[in-house]
Amino acid sequence: MDAFLRGLPKAELHLHIEGTLEPELLFALARKNGVALPFANVEEAREAYAFHDLQSFLDIYYAGMSVLRTVDDYRELTLAYLARAADDGVRHAEIFFDPQAHTERGVSFETVIEGLELGLEEGRRAGVGSKLILCFLRHLSAEQAETALAQAARHQELITAVGLDSSERDHPPSKFEEVFKRARDQGYRAVAHAGEEGPPDYIRQALDLLHVERIDHGVRCLEDPELTERLIAERIPLTVCPLSNVKLRVFDALADHNLHELLQRGLHVTINSDDPAYFGGYIGDNFVQVQQALGLPRADLVQLARYSLEATFLEEAERAVLLDELDRYVREAGGPGDPTE
Ligand SMILES: [Zn+2]
Repeated sequence: MDAFLRGLPKAELHLHIEGTLEPELLFALARKNGVALPFANVEEAREAYAFHDLQSFLDIYYAGMSVLRTVDDYRELTLAYLARAADDGVRHAEIFFDPQAHTERGVSFETVIEGLELGLEEGRRAGVGSKLILCFLRHLSAEQAETALAQAARHQELITAVGLDSSERDHPPSKFEEVFKRARDQGYRAVAHAGEEGPPDYIRQALDLLHVERIDHGVRCLEDPELTERLIAERIPLTVCPLSNVKLRVFDALADHNLHELLQRGLHVTINSDDPAYFGGYIGDNFVQVQQALGLPRADLVQLARYSLEATFLEEAERAVLLDELDRYVREAGGPGDPTE
């Protein structure tokens, strides 16, 4: 089963590239760039990755990314993620980046996007497709988000969508209504984190005010039956991140996660890794551990992979190729989930 899950052709739709910075690369870049770290060694860094909520994670997350300085650093970070994603059956990734977390410490938008694109281009040649999603940091102001959007203008052909991440509590989607409208008018697609630590109403705001096409996380939707019915009726994908949710105490344990219930209710759930270097596993680990903890039947896991491919921002024909690949994979493996059954 584990090998079957890791090999399943899938898309990753909720992945922060800065959250893929493994302690080994963190130390290598710190040494190269002469950046002092608050940890003595790799082991100490791993031990520090024990969080009790979103904010305690974000504090370490922002400290870690201070080692990223040059085009080549961003390229290397991207390549390291894509290599792991390829091993986990990821055929296409829609990757978040946080330009403000770099520009506010003096690294130019150009450096960031050039490095990411170099890595993504190498990844495409090696068979993992990708798109970039520019996330606004919601703990900063709407004016600062406007600045990031303006900086992106020269590189718009490399950026598919805008998103919204960082501290959810007390930073409702409504704060970013105007900048999202401007971005959509300019041709960007839109997604937003909502309903992770924040209330179901933030999911509603993301839909009604930001006009997003996917909700990142969204697991708290079940607290609001009317909203749940709407998400089902409108087939809004939820990019759920099980290991992240446990690490940040959204759920006490994987066995308590509502993913199976979401799926059974008819929500278009996908499985993703969020910030895998910090949360104890990449997308394959998420699939395997969810299967073990929740005892999901194989057909459900195939459905999760199918939803991930369906929820991509790919053109219809590109998506069809990947869905065919999934069908073929399941058929060749035999057993439940086979579309020809
Ligand atoms: Zn996230």
